Amino acid sequence: MPELPEVETTRRGLAPHLVGRRVDKLIVRQPRLRWPIAPELIALLPGQRVDDIERRAKYLLVHTQAGSALLHLGMSGSLRVLPETTPVGSHDHIDWRLDSGQVLRYTDPRRFGSQLWQNAGEIHPLLAGLGPEPLGDDFDGDYLWHLSRERKTAVKLLLMDQKIVVGVGNIYAAEALFAAGIHPSRAAGQVSRARYAVLAVAVKQILAYAIGRGGTTLRDFISPDGQPGYFEQELFVYGRSGQPCRKCATPVKVITLGQRSTFFCPRCQH
Ligand SMILES: [Zn+2]
Repeated sequence: MPELPEVETTRRGLAPHLVGRRVDKLIVRQPRLRWPIAPELIALLPGQRVDDIERRAKYLLVHTQAGSALLHLGMSGSLRVLPETTPVGSHDHIDWRLDSGQVLRYTDPRRFGSQLWQNAGEIHPLLAGLGPEPLGDDFDGDYLWHLSRERKTAVKLLLMDQKIVVGVGNIYAAEALFAAGIHPSRAAGQVSRARYAVLAVAVKQILAYAIGRGGTTLRDFISPDGQPGYFEQELFVYGRSGQPCRKCATPVKVITLGQRSTFFCPRCQH
C-alpha cells in the first residue's frame, strides 16, 4: 500500500508536469473505484488550470480555481505523467489530458483508490478531524506527551491514530519505535516526555529519509519516474520476524496489535 513517503514522492514527481497546466479533458474508462469518481470532478475540472498540488495525509489535492481534485492511491494505485500516445493498459482507469500534450494517468489494479472533489473554501469530510502532519512543526515530542497522559492504549496504536498524527503507517511506526527504544505495546501514558521527544524526531527522520529514497519498495507501487525505492533492505525490524536484530542480534519478534503485525526487538525496546 502506498504510504506517506510514496504519496509525497508522487506529489514531488507530478508537480513540475501539472502545476500551471490546463486540464483539457477527462477520459474515464472505469468510474468505479473505491467510490465512484466524483461527478463534480468530471463536470468542473476540464478547462481548469492547476494552481498547486498539495499532500494532506495520504491524499493529494490538485488545486484549481473551481475547487480541488482529491486523489487517493488506495492499495495499488499510481499516477504518472505520460505522452498522450502511450498505449493504454487494462488497469489504466482515468486520464487527465493536459494542454502540454501529456496525460496524467491513474493506474490501479485493485481499484481501492479514489478521485473525489473538494469545493473551493471547504474541507472534504475525509480530511476533517485529521491530526497534524508528522513532518510539520505542530508534531513534536511535547505534543505526543500532552495527548498521551493517562492513556492506556499501546504507544504504537497512538502513533498510528490518524486523529493524533496522520500518515505514520505500520512500517514507519515499527521503525520509529525501534529507533527510540520503545516497546510498541507499552501504555502511551507511561512513556516519558524525554522518550517522546526522541520518538517524534525518529518519526520525522525515518519519513524524511524514505521520501528522499522514493519510499519503500512495495509490490504494486511504481514511482512517477518508474523507479521503485530501495528502503526495504534498510529496515531494522519491520518484516524481519526471527531474523537477528541489526543492533544486538536478538531475534526480532512479531506480535499482533490492533490487528496489525507488530515487529520489535525484545532486547532493544522496553
Ligand atoms: Zn536489538
